[in-house]
Amino acid sequence: MWYMDEREYLLSKLKYTMDPLTTCWVWNYPIKGRYPHVRRGGAGSPFVRAHRLAYEIYRGEIEPGYILLHACDNKRCINPWHLFAGVDLDNMRDFAAKQGPRRGEANNKAKLKAEDIPVIFDLAEQGVTHKAIAEKYGVSRPAISQVLRGGAWGHVSRAHRESGCQTNDGG
Ligand SMILES: [Zn+2]
Repeated sequence: MWYMDEREYLLSKLKYTMDPLTTCWVWNYPIKGRYPHVRRGGAGSPFVRAHRLAYEIYRGEIEPGYILLHACDNKRCINPWHLFAGVDLDNMRDFAAKQGPRRGEANNKAKLKAEDIPVIFDLAEQGVTHKAIAEKYGVSRPAISQVLRGGAWGHVSRAHRESGCQTNDGG
């Protein structure tokens, strides 16, 4: 749980400029390493990744074993709605290798979570190929196509469309 004053304190640490075109929250401070980092507390406290902190503030805790991935592919972006929690693909490949071939295919639907579905729609609308999305989630390409047709996850995708996330009606 975030206390109001702690939340505001942490928000004050997020220094970014909104890109009006992409809606990315672009970090405008020097970057340590590959991603923007900020100190969680005062001087001497540990560094945390800025986009991880933004995600926790706006969207809640990240489940253990999950890493944050950028839907927008902009490593300087800390917009929590451009981020999604995913399983580390290297870990997933190790896991799949241990399970043996074909086993994963039977479990395609189980690997995707309801909250992944709107992100998959967004990625597809941004022109990301089904194959690339499938690789991102460690599922087969037909599984992604099925999601986008509304087959396996129709109830979720319909809710997504009705929520107003859809900005492009094809015309
Ligand atoms: Zn972004």
